Amino acid sequence: MSHRLSRVCVFCGSSNGFRPRFREAAAEFGALLAAERIGLVYGGGGTGLMGAVADAVLQQGGEVIGVIPEALVAREVAHRALQDLRVVPSMHERKALMADLSDGFVALPGAFGTLDEFCEIITWAQLGIHNKPCGLWNVDQFWDPLLAMFAHSEHEGFLKPAHRQMVLAEDDPRRLLQRLKNHTATVEDKWRDLR
Ligand code: AMP
Repeated sequence: MSHRLSRVCVFCGSSNGFRPRFREAAAEFGALLAAERIGLVYGGGGTGLMGAVADAVLQQGGEVIGVIPEALVAREVAHRALQDLRVVPSMHERKALMADLSDGFVALPGAFGTLDEFCEIITWAQLGIHNKPCGLWNVDQFWDPLLAMFAHSEHEGFLKPAHRQMVLAEDDPRRLLQRLKNHTATVEDKWRDLR
């Protein structure tokens, strides 16, 4: 049985990046979600790739839920056209609510915020806090250095092969969504050999 993807949470840059391809890719991903009738959950921002992905879903008539901490709304970075913007007290609550609302997670290019969100959500998967698939769209090989870092961690004995394999990385967004749908949850307990 395939994993039901009603909503996918997208983590991505609040900036555009230098290459036009990145903004284009964010819009492409939003359009793909809408075409597949998969709702978007994201950080609620209107800038950069975040704005591009949300705009694309809205343009196609898809569902968008933004989850933003009070402090960021006040700084006027919230997306103005969202019908469903959930304002939460803190960054921690934002991440927890985004995780609850979503059936899977995808990171597009970004920086500290994106890395923080992706690494936290894959850590939660590794610990069995949730059982939802986590993927990277490796658009224009953007994530190659991060994938190399994960390989390095495994090579140096900090990451188990089974846990590294939990990171679903694909060059093609359709294939990535398919892998999220194919997800079956079998996570080795990280702490088993520590007990
Ligand atoms: P970054 O990759 O550092 O640009 O951070 C992007 C990620 O962090 C997004 O997925 C958001 O959830 C969060 N974030 C960072 N900046 C903002 C912002 N200005 N508005 C909303 N969310 C943001």
